[in-house]
Amino acid sequence: MKRLTAFVFIFALLMLVSVAAAQEVAPVPDTAFGPPIDPEKGYFVEEINDGVYWITEGTYQVMFAVTGEGVIVVDAPPTIGDLVLAAIAEVTDEPITHVIYSHSHGDHIGAAFLYPEDATIIAHEDTAEQLARFGDENRPMPDMTFDDQMTLEVGDKTLELIYPGPNHEPGNIIVYAPDQGVVMFVDVIFPGWSPFQQLALAEDVPGYIAAHDAVLDLDWDTFIGGHLTRLGTREDVELQRQYILDIQAAAADALATTDFFAIAGETGFENQWLLFNTYLGAVAQNCAAAVVPNYVDVLAAADLNTESHCWAMMESLRIDFNNLFVTITSEE
Ligand SMILES: [Zn+2]
Repeated sequence: MKRLTAFVFIFALLMLVSVAAAQEVAPVPDTAFGPPIDPEKGYFVEEINDGVYWITEGTYQVMFAVTGEGVIVVDAPPTIGDLVLAAIAEVTDEPITHVIYSHSHGDHIGAAFLYPEDATIIAHEDTAEQLARFGDENRPMPDMTFDDQMTLEVGDKTLELIYPGPNHEPGNIIVYAPDQGVVMFVDVIFPGWSPFQQLALAEDVPGYIAAHDAVLDLDWDTFIGGHLTRLGTREDVELQRQYILDIQAAAADALATTDFFAIAGETGFENQWLLFNTYLGAVAQNCAAAVVPNYVDVLAAADLNTESHCWAMMESLRIDFNNLFVTITSEE
């Protein structure tokens, strides 16, 4: 009995703690929700325009085009797995003849082995290089690669494959259906949401920032980001571009104003990683404090992820842009 009472007490305490923790996180704005997923099917498939479709299980996204001479499919996230085949079969009897890899990462193309062996796989040459390094049989090597740009014409569909330069990963491409006004670009822009942590793990931060403009330079109405809940609009891409530019400005400002020597006065100089971790952590916190209030109501999880974006941006400012300024204002 005593044990049960203790158990109930601890359980109640845990509930209280979890409620308190949940209350510290900003609510997900209504604008961040996507279409409901039928739990029986486990996926959602919808025609965007004139034979160009998207598929989602609620977290990852696939695009495909029905051409009259076969299906072109972009990506193969393992979380959707063979439900991609079911979703395509739901709308067409045509076989999959072409597979495009957005980039090499396993969470987006790790189920590509499920596609027909005779389908032509197309990717950027840097993606092929990455895949060759890992020799993963779940991600078959591309049959065709390109460098800057490639036009794929199959049946009545034309897709432009555009490389905007290194960004999230070298080789991460824009897939553009100009006649349908649809563009897919993965792991850079997250409609309705703050990106995944650290600028979505961008390997090239200046290229990641510039890629927003490369997408906006094209003429389209519907955006597929490869992730999360819903499709995007031009307003979504413009909003995230402004969010990222605001983070860049706030990180530069925090680098210029966070007092290095005041922090060194607390930590001392002997343990240099203690000093630098504390200083850089303070810069990221100051950056986030300037940005979060403006976005917490419009981008889901801005309160959770902005500080990590600030960290990644600050390191890019310091290393890529040689902005190593530390303030000595306390010494005056
Ligand atoms: Zn990725």
